[in-house]
Amino acid sequence: MSSGIFFQVISIIYMILLLIVYYAKQRLDTIENKIFRILMITNFIGLIIDIFSVYTIKVMSQFPILNLIVTKMYLVYLLCWIYIFTLYIFAISRKDGIKFKKVIKIIITLLIISIVVMSCLPLLYKDNGTTVYSYGPSADFTYLVSGLLIFSWIICMIINFKKLKQKKYMPLFAFMTIGLFVMFLQSTNPGLLVMTSMETFITFLMYFTIENPDMKLIKELNVAKDRADKANQAKTEFLSSMSHEIRTPLNAIVGFSQALKEEELPKEALEEVDDIIMASNSLLEIINGILDISKIESGKIEIVNKEYRFKEIFDELVILSKGRLGDKALEFKYSYDDSIPAILYGDYTRVKQVILNILTNAIKYTKEGYIDFKVSSVIKDDICRIIVSVEDSGIGIKQENISKLFSKFERFDLDKNITIEGTGLGLAITKKLVELMGGRIVVQSVYGKGSKFTIAIDQKIIAAVADEIEEDIKEEKEIDVSGKRVLIVDDNKINLKVASRLLQNYKVITEEVDSGFSCIDKINAGENYDIILMDDMMPKMSGVETLKKLKEIDGFNVPVIALTANAIAGMREKYISEGFTDYLAKPINKVELNNIISKYLNK
Ligand code: ADP
Repeated sequence: MSSGIFFQVISIIYMILLLIVYYAKQRLDTIENKIFRILMITNFIGLIIDIFSVYTIKVMSQFPILNLIVTKMYLVYLLCWIYIFTLYIFAISRKDGIKFKKVIKIIITLLIISIVVMSCLPLLYKDNGTTVYSYGPSADFTYLVSGLLIFSWIICMIINFKKLKQKKYMPLFAFMTIGLFVMFLQSTNPGLLVMTSMETFITFLMYFTIENPDMKLIKELNVAKDRADKANQAKTEFLSSMSHEIRTPLNAIVGFSQALKEEELPKEALEEVDDIIMASNSLLEIINGILDISKIESGKIEIVNKEYRFKEIFDELVILSKGRLGDKALEFKYSYDDSIPAILYGDYTRVKQVILNILTNAIKYTKEGYIDFKVSSVIKDDICRIIVSVEDSGIGIKQENISKLFSKFERFDLDKNITIEGTGLGLAITKKLVELMGGRIVVQSVYGKGSKFTIAIDQKIIAAVADEIEEDIKEEKEIDVSGKRVLIVDDNKINLKVASRLLQNYKVITEEVDSGFSCIDKINAGENYDIILMDDMMPKMSGVETLKKLKEIDGFNVPVIALTANAIAGMREKYISEGFTDYLAKPINKVELNNIISKYLNK
């Protein structure tokens, strides 16, 4: 053994560095990590024994016992390393549910037996002139055990054939290739002594392939994540309570303005009332936008699919858009492809919202010329791809801004658009919603000439043609509900006033109570109503709780409508699932109120 200790010294240096780097950080205590730790320390001890043995073999004739002990210790090391590495391979290949502790016990028992047997077997030395090296039954036994263990790896590899691509199997392949080559070298040139260095290299490699998460970082990340989650939760709660708070006074503004419109007022005053309604509507849109984006960002937005008629969306959008044109000298062109199936399956509210967004933008950012709203479809099997395009001859978008178009709060050409209201949230929400529905949105635009937004969404087809009888029901009917009795339940005095003021036009008899308790008392006292409009967020007893109590009363079957400022998307479904007959959002929209009245009172 005189070929020097070059490889061992190099190996010991990088092993020390590896140990420092590894122990410098707190690691996650996985089985793989624990095994790796033991393997590194074993390897380190092995290297020291290896270096030591180079000298003891030189002084063998003076200290034969010392040399024997060191050589045997080296063989113990070899056995330990190969057994621990085997344990690592079993650990990374183990299936969930397997009791790995048992495997560990078996491996340790086998290791102890192997060490005992190896220690009892004799060891011989050979001097071939240049080197002295050990051989004989003790060494042969060690190689035999190693061979058997390598065989067990091969079986493990065959069983886990699919997993082999994983990075953590790399040290195994390295051992299978470099290791066998080194073994061959070592057997033809016994003085080379590169076995331990090769094992050190494999151990070193494992540092990079083992799943070795940094504990400190994980802890910090978890704390940061918890904090972010809490902040996000607080933000969502804040926004939804703000939305509720803002909607309550808005309800009074919109409600009374709508009522004023019915009065005989001078033309100027009527125009001002219109302005108030328009301003309230934009405020409402801003609140809805902020709520939507916060819901999207916290992953809380849901697409609620139901059967719906696409034509209804189209018609509503045409009316809405025409209304929004105001006094702009714009030609509003629209076309509808009649091959679109009558009843589709999707999220009516969200489909309408995304199209309305691009239509509103077209109107906002076009001063003169035209807006062309087209809907067509491509049908394949039971899926209808709705293709909506909105083209305008407006200000257009600069090429460099197109990529930023769908980011939140991005607004362009502010010098030109200073008078145009907006938050820069519309398109960010639109894109997210379209993607949530599995669709796509694309933009083509020439700055100064105009833009074209196209949305494509796939919807399941429920029926190609609509039921004619159902169509008839949709037609406007004269509403005559005079003399019907309506009970309004709301803790807020102004809200009570708004609702009863809006109902005045229908000549119904309204009664007002300011709590769930009073409502229950009225019903218990035998009062009869044709409909109840009930607020939800009331102190002491909420609308939902009141409704539950009402339903316990024998013979109670009055339609109860949730009338609430808790009006973010998805609330309608929530209230109906709580048992309400229907839902009306605050601020009360005249058309929606009309629908409710005609549906439940006009019988
Ligand atoms: P907002 O309209 O509230 O500002 P959006 O997210 O809807 O926010 O739009 C972002 C920006 O994209 C707008 O501020 C405007 O600069 C530009 N934009 C959107 N639609 C059009 C359009 N049809 N024509 C020209 N510019 C548009």
